[in-house]
Amino acid sequence: MARWGGLSRSRNVEDRRGLGGGVAFAGGGGLIAILITLGLSYFGLQVPQSTVEEILGQIQSLQSTEVDESSQPVEFRDDDDYQVFTEQVLGSSDELWTDVFAANNRTYEQPRLVLFRGVTQSACGVASSQVGPHYCPIDNTIYLDETFFQELKRRFGGSTGEVAQAYVITHEVGHHVQNQLGALNARTQSSRDSAIALELQADCYAGVWAHAQSQDDVFQGGEIQQALDAAAAVGDDNIQSKTQGRVTPENWTHGSSEQRVEAFTTGYETGDPGECVGL
Ligand SMILES: [Zn+2]
Repeated sequence: MARWGGLSRSRNVEDRRGLGGGVAFAGGGGLIAILITLGLSYFGLQVPQSTVEEILGQIQSLQSTEVDESSQPVEFRDDDDYQVFTEQVLGSSDELWTDVFAANNRTYEQPRLVLFRGVTQSACGVASSQVGPHYCPIDNTIYLDETFFQELKRRFGGSTGEVAQAYVITHEVGHHVQNQLGALNARTQSSRDSAIALELQADCYAGVWAHAQSQDDVFQGGEIQQALDAAAAVGDDNIQSKTQGRVTPENWTHGSSEQRVEAFTTGYETGDPGECVGL
């Protein structure tokens, strides 16, 4: 098992698991469209309209209440292993990016991360499990439903191991880094090629994080392979061949398995975010 124990824990993880939607639904369908067209969801899958309506229905039926942690099911009430793991991955990532930004005379503002199940509210609209782990640039928050990883393994191969999960979290952190650098705007999202370039850059940033952890001997044996397997599993060609039975590159949003593995490997081998070519 990877040695996460030595990593400092982020205090920016909020556990909403078991709380349903938990907060008032303030947005509209337009905000969901923003999130999806930003291409920041992990899979980049277009959520079918029926699903969107279904989710909206669920959310709108929720009462307008503050998050009340005492109503959280007992299994999530304390900091369980998964929450601690998430805090360690985010905390180590905060340290890395704080240093990188400082070396460039910039200040890194730490992202937040929300753990949830099913659906929850984000400033981008609705965060749902169907979208997969994703980053909302409006509230600087990563939304993560860890049951995604079983789904990832079941549908697309890949790994449910912790290093695979850390890759996914740090890929989303990569979008936060892009957001901090002003790289996420309408212009950069305007073409398919530039959207894919942002995704591959986020994979490379995840590799840079993995490089830093490998320097500290966090990974044991061949554990890093989990991250490579996950990057291959979420390649557009793999997802397309498993969901639609054929590969249509004109519809790619994140890059092929080969491109994603290559991008991660570039960051992992060099440890240099400057090698993570974006646009
Ligand atoms: Zn992404």
